[in-house]
Amino acid sequence: MSGRVMIVGLGPGPAEWMTPEAGAAIGAASDIVGYGPYLDRLALRADQRAHASDNRAELNRARLALKLAAEGRAVAVVSGGDPGVFAMAAAVFEAIEEEPEWLDLDIAVSPGVTAMQAAAARLGAPLGHDFCAISLSDNLKPWAIVERRLRAACEGDFAIALYNPASRARPTRITQAFDLLRRLKARATPVAFARAVGRADEALTLTTLGEADPGLADMATLIVVGSSETRFIARDGGRKWMLTPRAYGARR
Ligand code: SAH
Repeated sequence: MSGRVMIVGLGPGPAEWMTPEAGAAIGAASDIVGYGPYLDRLALRADQRAHASDNRAELNRARLALKLAAEGRAVAVVSGGDPGVFAMAAAVFEAIEEEPEWLDLDIAVSPGVTAMQAAAARLGAPLGHDFCAISLSDNLKPWAIVERRLRAACEGDFAIALYNPASRARPTRITQAFDLLRRLKARATPVAFARAVGRADEALTLTTLGEADPGLADMATLIVVGSSETRFIARDGGRKWMLTPRAYGARR
């Protein structure tokens, strides 16, 4: 078997947030496998084959990539953001566990800029101290696990990056998540909704846990919920910065 699979991330949107390595891997691929809208972002050549699929069909998409590689093709599997964060890298390795023959393939993962990094960069430094990332999607895990992790994140006083906050299929989950957070954290806790960061329709909303409207979140939104130390820094005539300082109390 001489085929290979490069698992790459396109970053949150703009070309300058895609790594040169990801760009080179896509350029070198004979076959590109991914969710349709991500493939649409790429300027593929006539000699390259695009295999678009539905966003829910992750494992089938991974199997297709591995089958093509086993036939000797040079495959790039694309995700948005970083391919290892709630994305295709896990699906490819889950598929490999099913089929020992695929273990011999040449497989590599190329890191990308994930949505929480892009959102944090726009906001200032909201993830400057210990933080965690939680996907609110219960497509692949029970909602009880999501709630348990939210409680644990509050107990640990982490800043929290919330991925997949809402969808048409699960419109009430985001409200339930905010109800839970409001029971366990101060209402004054800074919260940011970062929507479509890096894209033309980017929108940032800075608010507090008590005032936040969970209805602002859609599938293109990353939410950052502060720790007990997180604060806003007001600026004359400019957007506030969001800061989670690296030190608890004064720096020694
Ligand atoms: N692998 C991706 C995440 C996939 S999960 C990554 O590393 O970023 C999809 C979720 O990511 C979305 O529901 C949203 O919460 C977040 N997201 C992706 N792109 C985004 C962007 N440009 N702005 C804000 N959030 C984004």
